[in-house]
Amino acid sequence: MTAPASVEEPSPVPPARRPGPAGRQLIVGLASLQILAVAVVTARVATGGPPSTAGWAAVAPVVVVTAIDCAVAAWRLRDGRPGQWPTSVAWSLLAVAHLLLGVALVTGGPPIATVAFVPLSGLAVIMLHRRVPRWVPGHWWDALVVLLGSFAVVGAALAAVRPGGPAPSGLPAPTALAALACLALAGAALASRRSRPVVWWVAGGFATVAVGEALQGAADAGSHPGLPQLLTAVGFSLVGVAALTEADTRSGRPDAAGAGAARGADRRRAVPAGLPARALSWAFGAAALLVVGARLAGVPVAMGSALVAWAAIGVLLVRGAVTIIRGRTFADDRTDRLTGLASREAISEALAGEGAVRGDVPPGADDGAGRTDRVALLLADIDGFDEINVALGREAGDAVLTEVGARLKGVLRPPQLLARLGGDEFAVLLPGAGTEPATRVATALREALTPPLDVDGTRLTVQATVGVATCVLPRGRPEDLLRQADAAVHRAKSTGSGVAVYDPAKDGAGAQRLHRIDELRAALERGNLVVHLQPQVDLGTGRIVGCEALARWWHPDDGVLLPGAFLPLAAHSGLLRPVAAVILDRALEACATWWPRHRVVVSVNLTADDLMDPGLTDRITGGLDRHALPPSALCVELVEDALVADPDAAAALLRRLQGMGVVVALDDFGTGYSSLAYLRDLPFDEVKLDRVFGADLRRRRTMTIVAHTVAMAHALGLRVVAEGVEDAAAARTLADMGCDVGQGLLFGAATAPDAFLARLEASG
Ligand code: C2E
Ligand code: CA
Ligand code: CA
Repeated sequence: MTAPASVEEPSPVPPARRPGPAGRQLIVGLASLQILAVAVVTARVATGGPPSTAGWAAVAPVVVVTAIDCAVAAWRLRDGRPGQWPTSVAWSLLAVAHLLLGVALVTGGPPIATVAFVPLSGLAVIMLHRRVPRWVPGHWWDALVVLLGSFAVVGAALAAVRPGGPAPSGLPAPTALAALACLALAGAALASRRSRPVVWWVAGGFATVAVGEALQGAADAGSHPGLPQLLTAVGFSLVGVAALTEADTRSGRPDAAGAGAARGADRRRAVPAGLPARALSWAFGAAALLVVGARLAGVPVAMGSALVAWAAIGVLLVRGAVTIIRGRTFADDRTDRLTGLASREAISEALAGEGAVRGDVPPGADDGAGRTDRVALLLADIDGFDEINVALGREAGDAVLTEVGARLKGVLRPPQLLARLGGDEFAVLLPGAGTEPATRVATALREALTPPLDVDGTRLTVQATVGVATCVLPRGRPEDLLRQADAAVHRAKSTGSGVAVYDPAKDGAGAQRLHRIDELRAALERGNLVVHLQPQVDLGTGRIVGCEALARWWHPDDGVLLPGAFLPLAAHSGLLRPVAAVILDRALEACATWWPRHRVVVSVNLTADDLMDPGLTDRITGGLDRHALPPSALCVELVEDALVADPDAAAALLRRLQGMGVVVALDDFGTGYSSLAYLRDLPFDEVKLDRVFGADLRRRRTMTIVAHTVAMAHALGLRVVAEGVEDAAAARTLADMGCDVGQGLLFGAATAPDAFLARLEASG
């Protein structure tokens, strides 16, 4: 078995494991035996064999051969990878169930074999799905409706054909067999388009046996002699064929009987994700209504069936109510309203599903249903779409998106899935595609847009930039593909190449950044953004007179992150305001814990963005009110950069704050270009000497600058805070030069508010 060398590299696709000649002969031999057994039953029926109970022994060989088929499948899958063990167990259970039944049919006893058949097979049918599908609540509702609805209908139909009583044939009762088929059907709905063809074969087998058994009831009444046996034999054979298909699929070359149909079945399900589950649930919901309606209309429908039908309708109603309460309709969470294509939710779900299903396919192999262990995702972004919107209006923009969607769709074939993610972004999921085929599709998508579009008589030329990301399962994470394709689009746009394939070396940083932005958003919601407080000490008395609130992010994996690691991200992703709001609130919240006893001011850093925020004053007054603090408990620190954008507006805002009583400080003083002009024009209460001076006081020139700055600030009526005070000598020198307050590691690093409060309380 060859494992692919890297997530990106396309590798040839060798079959994972072929059965040796002996294994293949065994499978072919069993298939022949199965056909022979059915042929014998057919011959008996054709020659008018006895339709009596004793005739059922004729079906026994078919059942025994099926048991052997299942055992072979279990044996061939025994060393499957961890996710596959349920399949092997499922076939073992089916083998045991059929063997017991076959023996019972021949010997005419014991009934326990017949009774055991149903739970054993039921468990097997569930396990055949291999693993629990991803938790999508809607799917579970749908599956429940399918289970109840199908069972109500089948129960009613069976009761009409055969009015109960023990099964004379020795086979399980038709209702129980039908329940097995319904269970498989519901499982298929749950797995949606991800269900495996074998499940359908097994379900079909049980359904056929159930029909045969039901007809046997009618045959008892004198009609259809022989036909029930034939149907029963065919039904069991379908289960056998499923087992042989599975046994041979391990080789990557499915057996001729199953392969074509299996592949066909897979294609049929490869429609937009979720459609089969929803369609099935509506269909069986409607069927349940029919059953209930029939009973109400006086048709003799068994009470049990009617109750189950009512339950199905109830579940359907609850599901509808839940969806409506959430403010969504069935269609609009998975269908894009504008274009009718799949939505972002649908494609995310499909990607997660790819991970679950393809994770079962051995690396580098084709699982026999045309699926390989690869997945590709393309992200197409229309170039300059905003300009179209602005120039022609939103309606024209919508028309362009609809037409682009239609053109892109024209290039694709099922199971390729096209979705609109929102705005002008389209995504295409290419199951089974490696990098090369995906790039070919990307080029085809671009070419499809080449002919000009006609929007309300205006001819428009539209181009798209496409990012390609692929991964090899089970190691690759399909969930990451959207982000990776997005990073590739960005690179393609910046280089103008039109198409780019995701390359961790080139796009990794970008993808990592996007990931961090998502995490930051979550941190805001979960309250993982906090402040740490650094003391500011009166250089004359040594008492704490203030503290600076410094933003910290408690990252679940990376520990405490400093502002340099996330404030630039926040600035680029429009998160600066929510971050600033949280920091302000946290700072005031902390200050409120000591303010009644210690008049220690808390300083908060503002950015240029804060100054442009028309709601800033309200945010500050609101925060002060909420925490019952006077404005004098708060100091806002501003760096010169924040003032450059609009000095007049900044001056007006600072005056307003100062008028309220808030302290205003000029931060990082001495590192900018025009500090003196700001000191002249703007109303400050405090200057904070940048830490480059505090750390460099042994140089005469530094001392001269500091001494003159302090003198100038005092002459202007400003307090001077020296930052970066790291040792006692520096603190002494600063105090001697008349500096008022010191901040730095000598007095303490920033700590969590609790620790800061404890220190304040200890200092008395
Ligand atoms: P800043 O306003 O100059 O804050 C002081 C920085 O110097 C803090 O770094 C602090 O931990 C560090 N520091 C304190 N004492 C010493 C010392 O003795 N020696 C040295 N070398 N450094 C010391 P931090 O927390 O990494 O913050 C860096 C910058 O990030 C801050 O510089 C400020 O501009 C910005 N920032 C921090 N928190 C916030 C916030 O809540 N909002 C905004 N807008 N900016 C913030
Ligand atoms: Ca500061
Ligand atoms: Ca500073």
